[in-house]
Amino acid sequence: MSASQITASRTGEVPTLLVKVFGKDRPGITAGLFDTLAAFQVDVVDIEQVVTRGRLVLCALVTQPGEGLEGDLRSTVHSWAESMKMQAEIISGHGDNRPRGVGRSLVTVLGHPLTAESTAAIAARIAGAGGNIDRIFRLAKYPVTAVEFAVSGVATEPLRSALAASASALGVDIAVVSAGLHRRAQRLVVMDVDSTLIQDEVIELFAAHAGCEAEVAAVTEAAMRGELDFEQSLHARVALLKGLDASVVDKVREEVRLTPGARTLIRTLKRLGYQVGVVSGGFTQVTDALQDRLGLDFAHANTLEIADGKLTGKVTGEVVDRAGKARLLRRFAAEAGVPLSQTVAIGDGANDLDMLNAAGLGVAFNAKPVVREAAHTAVNFPFLDTVLYLLGVSREEVEAAQTHDED
Ligand SMILES: [Mg+2]
Repeated sequence: MSASQITASRTGEVPTLLVKVFGKDRPGITAGLFDTLAAFQVDVVDIEQVVTRGRLVLCALVTQPGEGLEGDLRSTVHSWAESMKMQAEIISGHGDNRPRGVGRSLVTVLGHPLTAESTAAIAARIAGAGGNIDRIFRLAKYPVTAVEFAVSGVATEPLRSALAASASALGVDIAVVSAGLHRRAQRLVVMDVDSTLIQDEVIELFAAHAGCEAEVAAVTEAAMRGELDFEQSLHARVALLKGLDASVVDKVREEVRLTPGARTLIRTLKRLGYQVGVVSGGFTQVTDALQDRLGLDFAHANTLEIADGKLTGKVTGEVVDRAGKARLLRRFAAEAGVPLSQTVAIGDGANDLDMLNAAGLGVAFNAKPVVREAAHTAVNFPFLDTVLYLLGVSREEVEAAQTHDED
């Protein structure tokens, strides 16, 4: 039997008192209130406490005191509150909280800034879809304002559809996931590399050394828009690198720039016990180095063929394309012992779409519109660590993970 069931069976429809205390937060308020209540031998049914900008709201739902003692309890609590320069309100009623509706979701909203107008629109959309907001919690204020709404009374899918349309119009990112234990059980994150984990497109870095940047960039753009078959475009671009000295590989490795927040994301995920991998339509010559540098559990990419100290203009082995990325996500999940429904995939390009759709949560990261619209959710801020907020990880947890690492 769960704790809430025990509480429910004990309280049933018995009379209860809701005691609300509001005022400047300081140590000892909670102890003081319950010390005052203890004199009446009441039991605690529920407690909620929130502190916002130094102001505390403490709500306690307690059983009724013995016959004829409610008046006494009320005046004692009020005089205690007055002595603490707090306001108190006591409301009589029956039983516990109203049971939460069927269908529970977590709606994470990322805004920079998060305006009152967009908050109003999101709340109205939730209500319009038949949802009730049970709790609201700020996950982070940096680098974006991230707020999580716990919603019940509507299934996750219709809620997601109701909110997806609003997000870009409101200038916010919204992720809707089903609430429950499985969210905490998400244990594998697989990322794309080019323009996701790193700011660059690796083939363009090679192309710069080969003096064929413009040709390669044009093919990349068309492929990312989904206008070209990825495998054909890969072969066409790699062919342009033929004859390039192999020493360029080291130079390119040094030129690669991680996306802001990449280290924080990976470090935090690892501390939380996630496994983290990358799949790339780029090259093992770069992803292997990233795997070492970042402590990634999995990495897979294409390999540039090198013969006699020169790039041959070919790739070896099975090509990692759109379908290949989804296949690798499945393979990593199997190796990690994580069900696919508990995986998270992050990517920006059309060749990430199969992987994003196969994952339990697919996150389009600063993606092209075609990708953004097809993914479960999108992040349109250039900080990779904001993805953590979509997973319900708070900034405090992120900072705790960092402090721990520096110890
Ligand atoms: Mg990419």
